[in-house]
Amino acid sequence: MFSNCSRQLTSQFSNHLKRLQSTLIIAEHDNKGLNPITQNALTAAKKIGGEISVLVAGTKCGPAAEALAKANGLSKILIAESDAFNGFTAESLTPLIISTQKQFNYTHIIAGASAFGKALLPRVAAKLDVSPVSDVIGIKSPDTFVRSIYAGNAIQTMKANDPIKIISVRGTSFEADKLEGGSAKTETVPTDGCATDMTVFVGQQLSKSDRPELTSAKVVVSGGRGLKSGDNFKLLYDLADKLNAAVGASRAAVDAGFVPNDLQVGQTGKIVAPDLYIAVGISGAIQHLAGMKDSKTIVAINKDPEAPIFQVADYGLVADLFKAVPELTSKLS
Ligand SMILES: Cc1cc2nc3c(=O)[nH]c(=O)nc-3n(C[C@H](O)[C@H](O)[C@H](O)COP(=O)(O)OP(=O)(O)OC[C@H]3O[C@@H](n4cnc5c(N)ncnc54)[C@H](O)[C@@H]3O)c2cc1C
Repeated sequence: MFSNCSRQLTSQFSNHLKRLQSTLIIAEHDNKGLNPITQNALTAAKKIGGEISVLVAGTKCGPAAEALAKANGLSKILIAESDAFNGFTAESLTPLIISTQKQFNYTHIIAGASAFGKALLPRVAAKLDVSPVSDVIGIKSPDTFVRSIYAGNAIQTMKANDPIKIISVRGTSFEADKLEGGSAKTETVPTDGCATDMTVFVGQQLSKSDRPELTSAKVVVSGGRGLKSGDNFKLLYDLADKLNAAVGASRAAVDAGFVPNDLQVGQTGKIVAPDLYIAVGISGAIQHLAGMKDSKTIVAINKDPEAPIFQVADYGLVADLFKAVPELTSKLS
């Protein structure tokens, strides 16, 4: 009898806790559409539990909000439109997030661990006087998070005791929410006090490519110093064309000027986790592995049988890349 009663109390208490828990996701978008990392952040928020709202701040950001409203499990989409959010600067968005937080008292604020989230969340956390928890790769409970440290060489499980948890999540660690089955209501939030002359957005030049985006591509072909020159990267572009793949690079290849630095994969580059990662002429330094070792299948082509990349590779080919890559490309239809 006693144990039945205590079980009932425990379940009532946890339901009550769930109700008290509420998460605000900061949507990353370009007004016209969502950046996929927002869908990963949504999955992470669902793992935390409780009510979930999403803040979509921008200029004419209706289409991005509409895409989100299709997701199931959302309580509300908060829309904030102002010219102040042109360029999505951390300086203009922080006052908005703080005032939204004051209004709704969220227990968790989440964004993707992208350049956007990395610029924004530390500022928000400082204003709220709490510690941000960055680059989360797993959620154990509403206050206990898993993150990788030392360039991915150790996994840390940590408990955050701050009353408001500010979390950036690694996109590749959470499935993208399918954005279907829901019809969340929208609400406009005030944007007073967001305009700032501290930082003025002047413009941006985005690199254009017909290839899939590196961080969301299903297949990535990456080249390293072994390619020897930028011209030789053509071998990888030809292979990537056959596989509908994105092209990446090691830092050594970027530093040598073979390819632009937005192709860099690794600790100080992009984190990728495609279905297939083909590393060509890359030795497998820990800083490179930090950016790709969660890939589902890793193929390495290297002429040195002792190269560390073979320790993480599912399939390894000890060969001269200048022979092996054209041969591989020619065999693919
Ligand atoms: C703080 C810090 C951050 C860093 N961040 C990053 C990062 O984000 N990303 C990153 O990649 N690195 C990063 N690095 C650099 C990293 O330590 C390595 O120096 C770099 O990854 C090496 O690149 P690589 O494998 O292309 O070159 P190398 O280590 O020189 O390897 C070249 C490989 O090519 C092979 N090869 C040569 N010729 C051929 C051929 N004909 N056929 C087949 N194989 C061939 C060789 O056997 C060799 O294994 C960082 C370093 C530091 C200190």
